[in-house]
Amino acid sequence: MTQEIKVSLEDIGRAQAARQWNLVFPEPVESRFEVDIAHRRAKLLRIVIVRTVVVYNLFLIGDWLLARDAFNLALVVHFGLVTPWLLAASYMVHRSPGPAVRNLLMISVPLAMVAGVLAVFAVSRDPLASHYQYFVVIVLIYANAVLRPSFTAAVILSAVTIVAHGVICALHPTMPFEAAITSSYGLIIAAWVSLMANYYIERDVRRSFLMRLKDNLAARDLQRTADDLQRISHVDALTGLANRRGVDTRAAALFAGAEARRQPFAVLMIDVDHFKGFNDRYGHLEGDRCLSLTGGAIRSAVRGGGDIVGRYGGEEFVVILPEADMLDGVQVAERMRRAVEALAIPHDRSHAGVVTISAGVGVGRIDSPDSLSEAIAEADAALYAAKAAGRNRVHPPVPVDRHEHNVVRFG
Ligand code: GH3
Ligand code: MG
Ligand code: MG
Repeated sequence: MTQEIKVSLEDIGRAQAARQWNLVFPEPVESRFEVDIAHRRAKLLRIVIVRTVVVYNLFLIGDWLLARDAFNLALVVHFGLVTPWLLAASYMVHRSPGPAVRNLLMISVPLAMVAGVLAVFAVSRDPLASHYQYFVVIVLIYANAVLRPSFTAAVILSAVTIVAHGVICALHPTMPFEAAITSSYGLIIAAWVSLMANYYIERDVRRSFLMRLKDNLAARDLQRTADDLQRISHVDALTGLANRRGVDTRAAALFAGAEARRQPFAVLMIDVDHFKGFNDRYGHLEGDRCLSLTGGAIRSAVRGGGDIVGRYGGEEFVVILPEADMLDGVQVAERMRRAVEALAIPHDRSHAGVVTISAGVGVGRIDSPDSLSEAIAEADAALYAAKAAGRNRVHPPVPVDRHEHNVVRFG
């Protein structure tokens, strides 16, 4: 029973509003209470019951003083029956039985002790024996207020004890009638008091459990909202790419990572060609759609992993490629240029007839924060050169020799 039982704030509200006489919560809160509190408390019962064995056997002094004629029976009851049963119950209660079995085990402990006391009392003809059955009062208070079975189980235990005690007292030949009446109502009052203790302790435990659960849920919801906000604030709503803040955050993380020290990286600055004309010709809504598609095409051209792709503002995109040199950078930029061209978004105010991009590439090494801004400046200058050279191109240009696929190294 270690899995977490999901409980909502509404479930807690319903549990708080419910006024069950036996204090049981509506599901799923009761199951959650069982897992979080009751089950753990049951584990502690083992120690409580073992200590009980010691105290219970001190009753033997009373047996010797008040019912000496039945002392042999008392020894058999104590060591032959009740002590073994208590030890068995403490073992079983530790083995995580469900709530029903646990409550049965819990009330079996006082019932065994009460039965033992009443048996010795019933057999004894010692004139002092009428004082002997006061032990029953102690056992009942102990059971209801210390062992604390469920309120329902405590009520059943109290009723059985009062009836059994009453019958034995009424039938006992040496018990004066007045003493029988007095000890019976004394026991009833003890039951009443200890049942109240049982009820109010359990009610308080359950109330604070609900409050804690509610606080935890509220804190978790707040954390989720904070996480969502954090995520949203780093994403560009139009393209789903990182926005400028997102790019800065991821770049800062890349530069902070000691494992990336001295590694080369490439920066791509990308700008949609003649985009003002596109907006003027097709309208802003179409412009937005175009930016979204273009962003998707740009993203699809990188491998992912540590690569950072973002919309830097307006119709400009930035890409940071860790572990990439100039050749890698221009090849990726060229892939992006082709991918956007392949979208074939009509643009009759551009020479190409479709939407195109220009890209500039800069490179650096991860050593100082300045190296990123220097690489961006280099990429910006390269983008400017690409625009000046006629747009729809990458600068520096991709160097290819006459045999296709044989790419020439830079420098
Ligand atoms: P160039 O080829 O030199 O880059 O020319 P251009 O027209 O693309 O460049 P310019 O900087 O003159 O125009 C950019 C336009 O991008 C202007 C602006 O209306 C448009 N733009 C910027 N952000 C958005 C946006 O979020 N949505 C839309 N629809 N348009 C945008
Ligand atoms: Mg621009
Ligand atoms: Mg532009």
